[in-house]
Amino acid sequence: MKNRLEKKYGQFFIDFVNSDTTENAILSFLINLQQQFSFSDDFCNLVKNLYPSINGIASLLGQSDQTLLDLILKKNGIINRLNDRFKVINYAVESYNPFSENISLISLEWNRGNNGGLPSDDQQDGHDSDGGFLETLKLLGLSIVDGPVSIKLDAVKNEIEALLGQQAAECLDQLAAIGCRIADSTADVDKSRYEELNLLAVEHREVVEFHSQIEGIQIDCKQILEMVIEGQPYDQIPNFDRYLELFNNVGSHRVKINGGNQLTSVSLFEEHRYLAIKEVDAWLQEILNAMAFCLIEYLRSDKSRNYLKKCVTCRQYFIARQPRTQKFCRKACRLNSV
Ligand SMILES: [Zn+2]
Repeated sequence: MKNRLEKKYGQFFIDFVNSDTTENAILSFLINLQQQFSFSDDFCNLVKNLYPSINGIASLLGQSDQTLLDLILKKNGIINRLNDRFKVINYAVESYNPFSENISLISLEWNRGNNGGLPSDDQQDGHDSDGGFLETLKLLGLSIVDGPVSIKLDAVKNEIEALLGQQAAECLDQLAAIGCRIADSTADVDKSRYEELNLLAVEHREVVEFHSQIEGIQIDCKQILEMVIEGQPYDQIPNFDRYLELFNNVGSHRVKINGGNQLTSVSLFEEHRYLAIKEVDAWLQEILNAMAFCLIEYLRSDKSRNYLKKCVTCRQYFIARQPRTQKFCRKACRLNSV
């Protein structure tokens, strides 16, 4: 294809989608930034310690630690789901101890008030119909002005089910089951190691969630490519409108004052911005923005749609040189075709 810039954007998008793991998708993103947008030779080296890498964390742990960490992540995932239920009654599960089988509950009002003092009047509103569970908690020593209170999971399970429904009860069963597996696998491991890994998991969970969101972007983008190649109208391709909107928000209409007192366009791809990213969420947004930008820029020319292909042999997407005849992404795939 003739338009080199267009092809660059298309290749950027396709490399991300073709990557076999989320870690490799991010690496292809970073390598393409460096190679396609004239970033410094040092960029990949500098950024490798900045982006949320899952390999980096896993490689720090031995096999038994990885298994235990995986269980801890599952436990935390269940607690997250439980807290979706608990928030309707303004309480939260703070933690679950797999050794004592105690669940630690905390009033969100107490949390938010952060002084442990008396709640304001409007915070008391809405607590008239909390039902027996909160009465039980009060009897057990937990009230709106208290900090976290630990209770045996078994002791409150039925009441939680009565108040929050069966799904909450199922979560509690899963929590107890995961707790047993953690306690079993920790039997011959130092319990303080569990505590260390538990702390690591808080950080790790954010990275794991980030990677599952990257996987979601890959799946969405793959579906978009698939349907574009099939010739579906853009307005019937799921998520296409979302990417179009993202493009419109980040498009190249932004302008800055440069050193020569001129107004120049701001590129979406500027090295210093990537090196300054501090938050995991910001990485996610940058990657999403870049994918949206590259997809729409590539498709802006009617012709470029015809150059998009899926290799008959390796099933990877590619930009063809000869759209009418080319079925394979490279010679090896042509030679290996059946
Ligand atoms: Zn191929």
